[in-house]
Amino acid sequence: MTEIDRTVAREVQRRRTFAIISHPDAGKTTLTEKLLLFGGCIEVAGSVRGRKSQRAATSDWLELEKQRGISVSSTVLTFEYDGFRVNLLDTPGHHDFSEDTYRTLTAADCAVMVIDLAKGIEAQTEKLFKVCALRKIPVITFVNKVDRPGRQPLEILEEIEEKFGIEVSPRNWPIGFGQSFRGLIDMPTQQASLFDVRDGSQRVQARVVDLDQLDGENIPPAALTQSLEEVELLAEAGEAFDRERFLAGDQSPVFFGSALTNWGVELFLRGFLELSPKPIGRPSNVGPVPPERPDFAGYVFKIQANLDPRHRDRVAFLRVCAGKFEREMEVLHPRTGKRIRLKRAHRVFGQDRETMDEAFPGDIIGLVNPGEFHLGDTICIGDPVMYEGLPQFSPEFFATLRCPDTSRRKQFERGLQQLLEEGAIQVFTDSGAARKEPILAAVGELQLDVVRFRLESEYNTSTEIRWLPYKVARWVDAGDGDINDVRLTSRSRMVRDQYDNPVALFPSDWEAGYTQSENPDVQFSEVRLDT
Ligand code: GDP
Repeated sequence: MTEIDRTVAREVQRRRTFAIISHPDAGKTTLTEKLLLFGGCIEVAGSVRGRKSQRAATSDWLELEKQRGISVSSTVLTFEYDGFRVNLLDTPGHHDFSEDTYRTLTAADCAVMVIDLAKGIEAQTEKLFKVCALRKIPVITFVNKVDRPGRQPLEILEEIEEKFGIEVSPRNWPIGFGQSFRGLIDMPTQQASLFDVRDGSQRVQARVVDLDQLDGENIPPAALTQSLEEVELLAEAGEAFDRERFLAGDQSPVFFGSALTNWGVELFLRGFLELSPKPIGRPSNVGPVPPERPDFAGYVFKIQANLDPRHRDRVAFLRVCAGKFEREMEVLHPRTGKRIRLKRAHRVFGQDRETMDEAFPGDIIGLVNPGEFHLGDTICIGDPVMYEGLPQFSPEFFATLRCPDTSRRKQFERGLQQLLEEGAIQVFTDSGAARKEPILAAVGELQLDVVRFRLESEYNTSTEIRWLPYKVARWVDAGDGDINDVRLTSRSRMVRDQYDNPVALFPSDWEAGYTQSENPDVQFSEVRLDT
């Protein structure tokens, strides 16, 4: 039996760590702002939106964000609500997302999927949902913009079930939508919450009313009739909430609301806190490690350089998975076997840092100048454990980079190596090729822009980029067969990743599918799960 520490257990019990997944413009920023309004926000200087536009002013590598008007880096927002400590992992909102987004999801215990009622499920939501499904991360759905004319709420439920192959279980139901949106019916209690004031900057208080009292309220009769009929139908024929299926990623509870007018956001927050899981034991080489144990353990899910130009340093973002973290703690780094004193541990919020004295499972720590830490590395105290490695996803952009100035070649190579270690890009090599240039690859095009920008600003080397005609990578497992016998199309190519695993590059999904059908005994995977 593993020892349980009571303080740690208590803190674990009240921790909720999640990320929001959505397509740009669905309302992620607005929802985040409103959630922070309810929580006595601990570390937010200025509003989230303000941060979107102001942040770039203080950092030169974030100059790129300013130029492109987007957010490249992700941070964590922490707030307290009703005794809970909530960590919201902020992921880049731009459509040109990167592996950072994927890796950040691995650090979340739960995801909130924001869907625009009018637009339904869009491309990026679909991609991010796939990552959650792969990691079996439970997903709670928030259908946003109910105040705007959109689709029928029932249609949205069907779309989620069809596209994602999961059950949905509505936790509340809108009374009217678009112009006639007046409130929400809570499914478990069958009571209505009505909203009277449209003021998104305030905590909107709902009036709670019994369903049989709704006739006397100012609700368009057709909207009321439709809602009550649907609620009755759902109560009879809808999926009941099933905690186990939700935690296994097979069922998603659904909430409706309008982040902009702030209608239903607090109801959603309460529902979220009731349903979302506390940190659980994460898989490792010695099996799942109970978070409540006294000995600290965590892993690095993101490395970012030069958040602050005054420091010119790197920050490793660590997710605490077990035990209590304390400042100045001496930890073991099992990959190298070294012991390291964690001197500079911070709570990181964009540019702002604050020294962190203690942290518990679910919390995120920024370790400054992490030295030998690589992505996916575990650090711990007590008996060594190593958490499961971070998955590597199929890139969609491939290019070679050249440094035209031969006198800067050394800096160029050093910079590239560092960026590779940070996980800013993936690198493939083709031993058979005439030119031995490494192939750089990224999930988002922007990642390659960031790499070029950083090589220029941090290593003072300009680069020339040559795009390659590939769109898809598949990790190849020939089983007992010979990798050289795998039949590829003439436009495809076999290369090796940075861990020497064979990878096939294809110009299209179609060609990847065709190659799979030509080589039925070979496994072609979109994701590589271990290093
Ligand atoms: P993000 O790209 O997902 O972060 O989306 P934003 O939060 O920036 O929202 C995109 C746009 O949708 C903005 O103009 C918001 O004001 C608007 N918006 C967000 N939530 C709602 C909502 O509930 N109702 C309406 N009508 N508009 C909304």
